Amino acid sequence: MRRTLLPAMTRRTFLASTTAGATLTFLHPFSAHAAAGQAHLRLMETTDLHVHVFPYDYYSDKPVDTVGLARTAAHVADIRAEATNSVLLDNGDLIQGNPMGDYIAYERGMSEGDMHPIIEAMNTVGFDAATIGNHEFNYGLDFLMKSMAGADFPVVLSNVATEAGAAPRDDTTLFRPYVILDRMVTDGAGEEHALKLGIIGFTPPQVMNWDRRHLEGNVTARDIVETAQAYVPEMKEAGADIIIALSHSGIGADAHTDGMENASVPLAAVDGIDALMTGHHHLVFPGPKYEATGVAP
Ligand SMILES: [Zn+2]
Repeated sequence: MRRTLLPAMTRRTFLASTTAGATLTFLHPFSAHAAAGQAHLRLMETTDLHVHVFPYDYYSDKPVDTVGLARTAAHVADIRAEATNSVLLDNGDLIQGNPMGDYIAYERGMSEGDMHPIIEAMNTVGFDAATIGNHEFNYGLDFLMKSMAGADFPVVLSNVATEAGAAPRDDTTLFRPYVILDRMVTDGAGEEHALKLGIIGFTPPQVMNWDRRHLEGNVTARDIVETAQAYVPEMKEAGADIIIALSHSGIGADAHTDGMENASVPLAAVDGIDALMTGHHHLVFPGPKYEATGVAP
């Protein structure tokens, strides 16, 4: 390595970075250039996994190289080795979407204590937290709760409640609305610092229509932005240093309208949210499909 590439790097910082992973071949600039008293935290997201554990197309019954958490896991391992600090989050739509999902739901079933294969795979890769997508409700609440019970990671969802109160913070939510993770991050000088990472989750309130037969009379859903405005200050009061919103909601209009499905842009504007992860659209952003729908890249 030529020293001129990394002028600000001390020998100690370099050693701290290179010991992060035995397979390290390339230092990401964010890791390399963190100064003393400054730490970089890499955020990784998966979204809309739709039961794709293996790189296999169950419809055509053949291997494919375009899907599968098993393949993504290699990227996750590379980034973990390269970044000094990282977290891995999932944005929902896990348990429905391919024949294996239907097989588990309609043939094998989920008894108390059973493991859902996508959750088992996620436990193996090691996620820090996840939220719930709209398709999680497709097989009913009992199947959903039994599936998520196997997760080794916290599952957060703030805008679906089993008992609605007068305001969002008075709701009894189906899942915990948010979690505050205690993490240690390493700065550019190799010193460790405590960081409280707040993670909150949202799903489109349209689930009440899409899965009415499962949900009506059992849960209610709130507007995403309204719910965020209620909980984010509470997360700050609880000591969150950084707040990450897991938004199983697409990138839609800039202006907030009550109950909007794709609320990620106005959600990003909620005071106190530092980072936002989106999903649900199955589109690459920025990309031509967003330009076609009139959403600014
Ligand atoms: Zn979705």
